[in-house]
Amino acid sequence: MNPLTALVADGTLKESAELSAFTTYKFGGSARWLAEVGDDETLHRLVGGLEAHGDVEVAVVGRGSNLVVSDRGFDGVVIRLVGDYLAIDADATPVTAGGAAPLPLLARDTVKAGRGGLEFFVGIPGSVGGAVRMNAGGHGTETADILVEAEVVDLRSGSRSRRSSEDLELRYRHSNLDTHELVTRAWFDTTAQDPEIGERRLREITQWRKEHQPGGTFNAGSVFKNPPGDYAGRIIDDLGLKGFRVGGASVSERHANFFVADPATSAQDIHDLVMEVRSRVSAATGIDLEPEIVFLGEFGHEHG
Ligand SMILES: Cc1cc2nc3c(=O)[nH]c(=O)nc-3n(C[C@H](O)[C@H](O)[C@H](O)COP(=O)(O)OP(=O)(O)OC[C@H]3O[C@@H](n4cnc5c(N)ncnc54)[C@H](O)[C@@H]3O)c2cc1C
Repeated sequence: MNPLTALVADGTLKESAELSAFTTYKFGGSARWLAEVGDDETLHRLVGGLEAHGDVEVAVVGRGSNLVVSDRGFDGVVIRLVGDYLAIDADATPVTAGGAAPLPLLARDTVKAGRGGLEFFVGIPGSVGGAVRMNAGGHGTETADILVEAEVVDLRSGSRSRRSSEDLELRYRHSNLDTHELVTRAWFDTTAQDPEIGERRLREITQWRKEHQPGGTFNAGSVFKNPPGDYAGRIIDDLGLKGFRVGGASVSERHANFFVADPATSAQDIHDLVMEVRSRVSAATGIDLEPEIVFLGEFGHEHG
């Protein structure tokens, strides 16, 4: 039996699974196969099947807060961590969290446990695995500063390793993790802190976000990385592109580096808006803005 058919038969893989609910944009097509992996044993079984099959494409989806899934979906296996990988142990030293743990919860749990240093995660609606992959950051701290180690599983070979920020080459919104590498757990450095001080910091950060970001909209955070010494949002705003629209996708009036989607917008609209803004910025300033958001699947009009 084909190894993937065997994984469907034993319930490890689902066929033709919609991905839209797993992203903050709430659009995009289906994965040909979806594996929702809740423990190491299931992960081991999945990796065995992928290894036996050989040439199937794999992709990892976290909380989908930096992700644009193609309307045509993804012709491969999408992996989503659930179950055991949601766990947070804020009393442990170092603080330990599963790859699927939501960052805002990790921030709040560590503050309650009298530990400081992870408060910046409260405003970032991603997962621990996504934060490691993207070196997520804000308010003066980034994941690289507080990550002790991440456990990484190679989905092609099953090999498991523990990697530090240096091993992962974490830089501004960058890591060396490949698409077939899965972050299953991470350990974070924190310092002892009065919970009241932490609570105050959490309130300051959430207040700042309310004032500066387009809350209550479908978006995936910052669209472009900031170029050295400047801000993508400032550049886009200076070109008068706030409110600029392609179909149901538009540049936020509130923050020009956030692109918001009307309900039922296509992923293609967001893709086209990103490309159009990038080309206008390049033509006007010579700066080639690099997307921070991750595109999954195929985009373009030639096939449909
Ligand atoms: C309102 C809003 C505000 C935001 N503010 C910030 C901010 O201040 N700073 C910031 O840095 N980002 C910000 N973001 C972007 C986003 O939240 C972060 O990049 C976050 O780290 C992405 O995590 P995720 O789990 O949602 O990843 P996803 O969007 O699901 O995936 C992003 C990438 O990470 C990979 N990935 C996800 N999980 C894993 C895993 N377990 N193992 C390996 N790879 C994985 C995916 O394959 C993909 O390549 C914001 C987003 C929104 C919507």
